[in-house]
Amino acid sequence: MSALSQLHEEIAACQRCQLFKSRTKAVPGEGADNADIMFVGEAPGWHEDQQGRPFVGPAGQFLNQLIASIGLRREQVYITNVIKDRPPGNRDPLPDEMRACCIWLDRQIEIIRPKMIVTLGRYSMALFFPGTSISKIHGTAQKRDGIIYYAMYHPAAALHQQRLRQTIESDMLKIPSLLAQAESITQAEQEPQQLTMFED
Ligand code: URA
Repeated sequence: MSALSQLHEEIAACQRCQLFKSRTKAVPGEGADNADIMFVGEAPGWHEDQQGRPFVGPAGQFLNQLIASIGLRREQVYITNVIKDRPPGNRDPLPDEMRACCIWLDRQIEIIRPKMIVTLGRYSMALFFPGTSISKIHGTAQKRDGIIYYAMYHPAAALHQQRLRQTIESDMLKIPSLLAQAESITQAEQEPQQLTMFED
């Protein structure tokens, strides 16, 4: 069994916080264990809790379209959430739950070593870009320890606020050139640095 499948099994049996009591299924994540891009959402919703798979509801359908817009399929990236069990009634995750669950995301990153981590929404943004706001940093990237961190609005935001749809779509389209830029920086063996994204 691969290290990632083994980790998924551990997550499926997790009882590190109270959320295991109300979950139908844990939602560890899915995708390629050698993915260049890891998408990190907030927490499973109703559909995800039923199926044990991330982003399979309406927000997931939009995420699939966004992934296709950069010429990739879901199976070629890795998709997960900060929180692996659905908070009851889709309430916001509690700080203790975030703390308890973070170890799983750390281990996913260690195993997959993606070139780029794309945060979807404010909870995953808060982990990787603390103390800032999504309206300021969406569509911008930072490179740290060889990984590019890139912040985007949550795809569900486009379902509620039509005006954000175009912003999300154009932020997604910046990803391929960022990845290409990242590769050239690595080849030149430069130190991790702040990447300046071209704003439109
Ligand atoms: N929203 C998320 O943040 N994650 C999911 O898996 C589904 C909806």
